Amino acid sequence: MYFSKSFIPILKNNPTEAKIKSHQLMLRTGMIKQSSAGIYSWLPMGFKVMKKIEQIVREEQNRVGVQEILMPTIQSSEIWKESGRYDDYGEEMLRIKDRQNREMLYGPTNEELITEIFRSSVKSYKSLPQLLYHIQWKFRDELRPRFGIMRCREFYMKDAYSFDISDDEAFYSYNKFFLAYLNTFKRMNLSAIPMAADTGPIGGNLSHEFIILADTGESKIYTDKRIFDVDSSKTTIDKNSLNKLRGDFEKYYSVTDEKFKKDDFEKNVLKENRLQTKGIEVGHIFYFGDKYSKPMNASVDYNGKKEFVKMGSYGIGVSRLVGAIIEAKYDDKNEVMKWPTSVSPYDCAIIPNINKNDKTNLERAVNISKTLIKNNFEVLIDDTEENLSSKIKKFNLLGIPYQIIIGKSFSEQKIEFKEIHKDTIFISIEEIIKILKNKK
Ligand code: ATP
Ligand code: MG
Repeated sequence: MYFSKSFIPILKNNPTEAKIKSHQLMLRTGMIKQSSAGIYSWLPMGFKVMKKIEQIVREEQNRVGVQEILMPTIQSSEIWKESGRYDDYGEEMLRIKDRQNREMLYGPTNEELITEIFRSSVKSYKSLPQLLYHIQWKFRDELRPRFGIMRCREFYMKDAYSFDISDDEAFYSYNKFFLAYLNTFKRMNLSAIPMAADTGPIGGNLSHEFIILADTGESKIYTDKRIFDVDSSKTTIDKNSLNKLRGDFEKYYSVTDEKFKKDDFEKNVLKENRLQTKGIEVGHIFYFGDKYSKPMNASVDYNGKKEFVKMGSYGIGVSRLVGAIIEAKYDDKNEVMKWPTSVSPYDCAIIPNINKNDKTNLERAVNISKTLIKNNFEVLIDDTEENLSSKIKKFNLLGIPYQIIIGKSFSEQKIEFKEIHKDTIFISIEEIIKILKNKK
């Protein structure tokens, strides 16, 4: 892609309305555009990142055996009346009437709809467990939408639901998601800590929030630092291994605001291990048993007996993650962003120094891009006539992790190559390909 033809509406300065760095950078680099309060359009740079995040989320759900479906954004109020949440949910729910005067709503979450889908076809415990997910837009009419796509009204979420015959089996399903979440965030080069959380209006008794540390986060957290060293890399998907993993994490005190008790914190965590800070919630898992299956009559036959299924739900804020990654990775003092390679909008930037009368460097750039494209890399070539230093400044902001710079001293065997935050090196195209492949 040529920069001159791309739709990347970069702003000269930080927009004053943005209070946190992710919001600033997303507006500044033209990743999103607000269309009305808390509702955004996603422009190419933002959309590419979000789609890559979505794909990682999808692969890790599939890996633990969750099946993908797609439910609609618009739901009927009937099922919400059955569960009792139509009244409880309050003003965050966007309510709509269709032309027949039927009460509809834009789904803020999908427990009711999935329960309805489940109960209409699953009749025997032999079909359990059922683990289903979808990735779909949600709408919550937040009282104070803020921080760009971090707390907005329309957002993209992965939500999954589990159906089991017993508490014990349901905990097994819960633990599969626990592992899938750790692996998902790890692939984005994020360290997300599972923290015991309140179950809030969804109800139930077992819940973890996955939190990324960031000063600008809205969740207050209290944790034992040693939790960062828990290793999940050897965990397999069998029951014992997953139980052990949960146990390894739960050894350490680690809670959010609502669950925090000063006495417990001080009793359980040595002073030198205490960490009290802020974070961003990127995922949330709940176990809530028969809270919905009972009022909505979702049951299976278990050796002649009717059993209400035990359910859990599991969310990941796919669109919020775009901002959360920026909060974690952007150095706003020096105005340098570096996307993790797994979610970067492009694999490599090619930045030739071009002047009106001499297009040699542009031709060199195009040749290099052909080789990279042949090797399945996505590249962005800056074909503008801006001066080299302002181009580099712009690309430091865009955060594509690798830059090929083509200037006066260009040589085929010694191409100027830079990984953001590292020293410039001079290497051949073959070596560049090797580096890009290794990091992918
Ligand atoms: P929060 O505590 O941040 O309000 P929540 O507990 O209401 O979130 P869940 O119902 O657990 O959210 O939703 C699952 C995930 O969806 C959250 O972990 C978060 O990443 C994301 N999310 C929730 N609300 C919003 C929002 N208004 N804007 C963007 N992402 C959101
Ligand atoms: Mg939550």
